[in-house]
Formats: sequence, structure tokens, C-alpha cells
Amino acid sequence: MKTIKIAIQKSGRLNEKSVELLKNCGLNFENYKSSLISKVTNFPLEILFLRDDDIPEYVQDGIADLGIVGENVIAETKVSTHTLQKLGFGKCTLKIAVKKDELISDIAELENKTIATSYPIILQDYLDKNNIKANIRTISGSVEIGPGLGLSDAICDIVSTGATLKSNGLVPFADVLSSEAVLITKNTNESSHLIEELLQRIQSVLRAKN
Ligand code: ATP
Ligand code: ZN
Repeated sequence: MKTIKIAIQKSGRLNEKSVELLKNCGLNFENYKSSLISKVTNFPLEILFLRDDDIPEYVQDGIADLGIVGENVIAETKVSTHTLQKLGFGKCTLKIAVKKDELISDIAELENKTIATSYPIILQDYLDKNNIKANIRTISGSVEIGPGLGLSDAICDIVSTGATLKSNGLVPFADVLSSEAVLITKNTNESSHLIEELLQRIQSVLRAKN
């Protein structure tokens, strides 16, 4: 019998909610932390536990039939996948922030400034759309310390509570992208019976919550 695969985050901010959603769909599986694959015992499904950054590509290439990942990750990897369903968790916003005492009030004032980010593709898109030429400095983490060290004039990073920005003396002033976790599949017109069945279960779990 055919089995489908779903890729979810192995550990991190989306892992727990992804596992919870699948369990609420009535799927039985062992949530082995050390194993990268878990077989569902009462549905022809295998769960792949991956780094979130790899999920869009696995789905695009058909290695996984479905994936659960943040919209921010999809936008940054520039792969082509199809979003079946927004899942209502993992909500966050990618924002541009500057030092508290920097008197920037309009995004046009970012012209020729240096912006540190882990999201160079999304940021470049945003700057292009707003006709702003700025220098993007790509760093993989802790971008908030950039302005304080004189490394950058501004940052573009994910903000959920704003606490990290505040403790680094930064204030957000422009929203670049809003994101939440989504269920994705390959970009094709053909869908399978098993994907449809799982999607329907997920949608009834989401409906029951609202
Ligand atoms: P991995 O080890 O899988 O690469 P990661 O460190 O890149 O994990 P996490 O920090 O676990 O990623 O975040 C996963 C996703 O959770 C983000 O891509 C984003 O969609 C979402 N998210 C929600 N709130 C936040 C937040 N405050 N900071 C960062 N990501 C958040
Ligand atoms: Zn990641």
C-alpha cells in the first residue's frame, strides 16, 4: 500500500505544535527525539524530522509529500511549493528595527544604510519594492547586536514579543513580512487521496479550535 511522508521540524519553535496537530488528527506515532523518521501505526504516513530550512526543498523535490514550515522560511528559500492550509501557530513578523536614538521615521531614510539580517532574499525584495538601495549584511544569528557594535545601521529580523529588540536598545519601525506555520505540498495539479484525507483531518482539527 502507498505511504506518504510529511516533513516537520525536528526541534525548535514549530516542533511541539506540529506534533500536537498530527496527534490531534488521531495519528498514532512515537515521537522519538533521536530518530529522524517515525511511522504512523494507524495511517499510511511517515513523519520526517528535519531542520526547518530543509523542509521546502524536500517538498519541492517530492522527497516529502507534505511539510509544515513557517512562511518566512519558504519565502527565503525561493523554492516553489503550494500552500494547502495556514495552521494558525508559529506566528511572527519580520521587522526592520533601528537604534532607539536613531531618528529614522520613514523607510526612505534607509537609503545607503547597512542592514543586518538572516533574511537577505526577503529583505532585498522588500527594498526593491520600495525603491530603496541599501547594503544588506547577511549574518546567521544574533543580528540584534549589530547596531550596538557599529556593524549595521539597522536590522531586519523576526519579532514576536519585541523583548530581544528592546533589551538591545532597538525599536521596530517597519513590517516586512507576517508569517505563520503552513502545510505545504508540491506545486502540481495532481493531488493524492491520502493527502486529501490528511488535509481534511487537519482542517477539522483547526475548525474545532475556532
Ligand atoms: P532549525 O534548527 O530547525 O533550523 P531554527 O533555529 O531555524 O530551527 P526556530 O527558532 O525553531 O528555527 O523557529 C522556527 C520558526 O518559528 C521560524 O522560522 C518562524 O517561522 C517561527 N517563529 C515564531 N516565533 C518566532 C520567534 N520569536 N523567533 C523566531 N522564529 C519564530
Ligand atoms: Zn532553521
